[in-house]
Amino acid sequence: MNELSNIKVVGTVEAVRDFVKACRKEGKSVGLVPTMGYLHEGHESLIKKSVAENDVTVVSIFVNPMQFGPKEDLASYPRDLEADTKLCENAGANLIFHPEPSEMYHDDFASYVDVNGLTNALCGLSRPGHFRGVCTVVTKLFNIVTPDRAYFGEKDAQQLAVIKRMVADLNMDIKIVGCPIIREEDGLAKSSRNTYLSPMSRNESLIISKSIFMGKKMIEDGERSAAKVIQAIKDNINTSAIMDIDYVEIVNGLTMESIEEIKGDILCAVAVRVNGDARLIDNFMMTVE
Ligand code: AMP
Repeated sequence: MNELSNIKVVGTVEAVRDFVKACRKEGKSVGLVPTMGYLHEGHESLIKKSVAENDVTVVSIFVNPMQFGPKEDLASYPRDLEADTKLCENAGANLIFHPEPSEMYHDDFASYVDVNGLTNALCGLSRPGHFRGVCTVVTKLFNIVTPDRAYFGEKDAQQLAVIKRMVADLNMDIKIVGCPIIREEDGLAKSSRNTYLSPMSRNESLIISKSIFMGKKMIEDGERSAAKVIQAIKDNINTSAIMDIDYVEIVNGLTMESIEEIKGDILCAVAVRVNGDARLIDNFMMTVE
């Protein structure tokens, strides 16, 4: 436990349970913000919303090995617990849960949570096993912290939809709160992975948010063909030589199924590899009459 600051940093499940038990005895409500750390204003907005809506806020900081593929950036994922602790404390959080992988996954670990259907699209297709890792760790965090509410960003729109489905299907008594995407002033969605970008790549990455805003405008102006909007976004992103599109899709916002005609609750999501440095995602959601 870090005694130097007002916020407590603990690494064991037992310490979290003791903390939450004491809060419950005083009748306090508990909010949870699950993160992988290297926190920025996007995470901060989730923490502040939790602080506003709950008596106590727990932030988990855990780079979850199970949600990374064998060729992904688990080892190089940025980490800075000291800066994260300051951000959490300033935002009003009360406890950081920062476990070692061995605390979360014992050698004989054998249980997984799979959400089907919604995960057969977008990042679920490009990152096999990713959502199994996410759903398993989030279920564990829910069981450890037993929060009243848990906060997730719309930045990871498919993740938010998958978690909502999981909570409904498995009767988890937790309210899932979605929070809007926080962007840099110039429009780039904030991400811990933006740190991988060289200044040149960072500059060119603006094409991603610009392209999806352009797609959104096409829909606002009346375009209803998903294929046309997708193609326009792809063409725009491809004007940069260092963008390697993973996917550009328009799907039903609940089921994540591809749609031809844009109507109802839709999600337009993109994933792009930038100069081999980073895989960035961005999206917009819309309700179209
Ligand atoms: P991560 O640490 O990347 O796993 O993200 C932890 C949580 O913060 C997830 O629910 C993300 O969707 C959310 N988040 C990350 N970046 C942003 C952002 N730019 N705006 C809003 N939420 C975000």
